[in-house]
Amino acid sequence: MGIWDTLYSEIIRFFGLSGIIEIVKKGDYSSLATLGGIQKLIYPIIPLLLLLEIIRAAFYKRFKIEDYSMPFLVFVLNRFISRFISIAAVAFCIGLFERFAIFKTTFTWYWLIYGYIVWEFSHFIYHYLAHKVRILWCLHSTHHAPQHMNLFVNFAHFFLEAPYADVIRTSICILMGVNPGLLFFIMFIDGFWGSFIHLGENGLKNGRLGFLNKIILTPSHHRVHHAKNPLYMDTNFCNLLNIWDKVFKTYQDERTDIKIEYGITRQMNPHNVLDAYFGEIVCLAKDVYKAPGLKNKILYCLMPPGWSHTGAHKTAKLAREEFLTEEGEKQPLAEPPPIQQEQFS
Ligand SMILES: [Zn+2]
Ligand SMILES: [Zn+2]
Repeated sequence: MGIWDTLYSEIIRFFGLSGIIEIVKKGDYSSLATLGGIQKLIYPIIPLLLLLEIIRAAFYKRFKIEDYSMPFLVFVLNRFISRFISIAAVAFCIGLFERFAIFKTTFTWYWLIYGYIVWEFSHFIYHYLAHKVRILWCLHSTHHAPQHMNLFVNFAHFFLEAPYADVIRTSICILMGVNPGLLFFIMFIDGFWGSFIHLGENGLKNGRLGFLNKIILTPSHHRVHHAKNPLYMDTNFCNLLNIWDKVFKTYQDERTDIKIEYGITRQMNPHNVLDAYFGEIVCLAKDVYKAPGLKNKILYCLMPPGWSHTGAHKTAKLAREEFLTEEGEKQPLAEPPPIQQEQFS
């Protein structure tokens, strides 16, 4: 295949257009009314929104190449490394755990609700561990390294993260009886929404989506998740239904008086893709090397980021508690100012 053919097929693949092209070539538009047809129509929405986000940013002279370059490079790197690992991991877990399922479900609307609640639970577990176990944070921090929010951040992941996330999520769902067909359907909705919530301020200034902000997890909630402000760190782990954040008390609304600062707290070069990819691993390796005794070395890998064998911890949990205590002392009865009306600008 020549370079132009490769480039063409990469662009078609990136924009998810192959399904639509196939339908147009065959002229069989009736398939658009099927579930598969609808999926083919939905696939290109996120890449097209990303394009729109960039065009809008350029139009308002807010486009900065460095906001997009790092997540883009991570995307390119992943594209070549982790093409099929994740699909294989899902298939493996289904084969391994299906026989141990507590019961069998079918593809009906009520099992869809059950399946989605279980899926969100499994996503919460994966995502919570990704933030609270330092060795897993080494993988997840790549996704949090970008210092601006845009749809490309969705593609910035360490290549091993998707297979490990899928192993945890698939195993829990299959054991809880979610049938594979239902699971793939849920994964499809989750994949779409999980991408959409990365829509940055260039695409949608206020990401609260009006009344939806009270019911589901919106881009505004996920912006909070990507923030390094003490109040916002390690909150909003869910993806679409934020029930588990509310159950486990990790829910945090965006506040107008606290402007989101994206990124991670470690000093890093935000435009260096290698730093975003391997920086946390290097830091962990240094801490493990310096730590006295085997027990401390293991604890550095398993305890939350910021844990120290000296007891001088600097974890996200402590930073948040400190912030809330300080704020409580300063203004004991103050209510956070209400957020302004939704503006699609
Ligand atoms: Zn995260
Ligand atoms: Zn994210």
